[in-house]
Amino acid sequence: MGNEIQGEDICEKQEGWDASDVGKRIPKRVTSQGTYFNEMIVEVFCQMCGASFIGPTREAGGFLGGHECMHAWEISQIIGREDGLHE
Ligand SMILES: [Zn+2]
Repeated sequence: MGNEIQGEDICEKQEGWDASDVGKRIPKRVTSQGTYFNEMIVEVFCQMCGASFIGPTREAGGFLGGHECMHAWEISQIIGREDGLHE
């Protein structure tokens, strides 16, 4: 048995993931940033605008972080316009 991962689905896709791939693991994925191993495919959504994303954990984090930054900026613009306060 050793270090084998038991009972987990493997996804060989390197792109184009959809709902049927959620919960599977990508053994190896080579990108221009680096090589990812054993990454889980997850589905996440943005609580601010309802956009959703399916893909590797790393990209899901980027999706959430990107939306969070963008919506925080939008809110700061609204607040700035209404009361002129700045942090
Ligand atoms: Zn959003």
